Amino acid sequence: MADGSGLCAMCNKPGTMTCGGCHCSRYCSGDCQKLDWPVHKLLCKTFRDFETRPGNKFKRAIYFPVSGTGPKFIWLQFEGYDLEDKPYYEQPVYGTLLGEDKPATERVFIDENMIVRRNLAHTIILAVRSTFVYDGSLPNKSVAKVDEELGYQWKGSFVALGMKGIRQEPRVSDDLGTTDFRHIVDELRIQHYFNFSRPYENVQGEKVKGVRINCLGDQGIFGRPEFEAVDCQLYFSKSIPRGVPYSMF
Ligand SMILES: [Zn+2]
Ligand SMILES: [Zn+2]
Repeated sequence: MADGSGLCAMCNKPGTMTCGGCHCSRYCSGDCQKLDWPVHKLLCKTFRDFETRPGNKFKRAIYFPVSGTGPKFIWLQFEGYDLEDKPYYEQPVYGTLLGEDKPATERVFIDENMIVRRNLAHTIILAVRSTFVYDGSLPNKSVAKVDEELGYQWKGSFVALGMKGIRQEPRVSDDLGTTDFRHIVDELRIQHYFNFSRPYENVQGEKVKGVRINCLGDQGIFGRPEFEAVDCQLYFSKSIPRGVPYSMF
């Protein structure tokens, strides 16, 4: 399955075509497929090496090693816990994926794509080093392969994994596919945009009539009336999400 939605990876139309390389991502049209390609090509070729599960504890996840060999699919092991006082849940076994020091993790939950404005069919969790901001972690060169700017914000190795369900504390692991990769990249760009770069341009709007209220000084010294009709030029700021291929706002 692509991302379980059956929808185009790039818009909310039905995904009637399937990528011939990975047989995973779906598209509504050749145009949408072309739009996705710069991101999709990083994982398309290797997807089919991950069709056979090495064991039922393993789920297909996406690894972003800090050293920059590029994002790649991995088989991530999960342990199931069936405790009496809790519903069954599963936890990933990271080993040294996030670093030899086996750091504590911070989790970023993704269950919607704000760019295409749709809920995902499952939850994607980004597991990052909880201290990556100040522990000396280097910029993540694998993310930089997607978009150079993103490497500056996202430091240290991290893993994206899938969990079934949305809008809840997800408990059961799920496979990620190539369209999930698109959702991850969109989310990284959105977070980068809101946290770091807010480029904008001033756009000239219409001219409107206004009333200028003159202060006592202007009235006394310059002989202006208390109220004066004036023409105003309106400007508004238009945000430009950098690296996002189509208009967000
Ligand atoms: Zn489409
Ligand atoms: Zn493909």
